[in-house]
Amino acid sequence: MNFCESCNIACGGERCPKCGRKKLRAVNGDDFCLVGRVERLFGDGLKEQLEHENIDCVLAPYGTGVRSKFSLPLESYLLYVRYKNFEYVRQILKDRDA
Ligand SMILES: [Zn+2]
Repeated sequence: MNFCESCNIACGGERCPKCGRKKLRAVNGDDFCLVGRVERLFGDGLKEQLEHENIDCVLAPYGTGVRSKFSLPLESYLLYVRYKNFEYVRQILKDRDA
């Protein structure tokens, strides 16, 4: 897996899917990687759950700034976790969507 330091995205290819950058480095287990976007309430609950499991996560507010002009109904977060926890947390999001 490669890692884009500008976007905090782990990807299998040589090019970052978000910014198109090609100078990617190999990801390491402690890199924070973007998992996806979550609703605020769900994100708060998930953070608590992960803290109980000693998994670090970062919630970055999404839908603020320019976007607040469009008055989104629900504030949301971008969720980042360390790469070593990435699959685990992605699965939690998947299970929720199912
Ligand atoms: Zn990138």
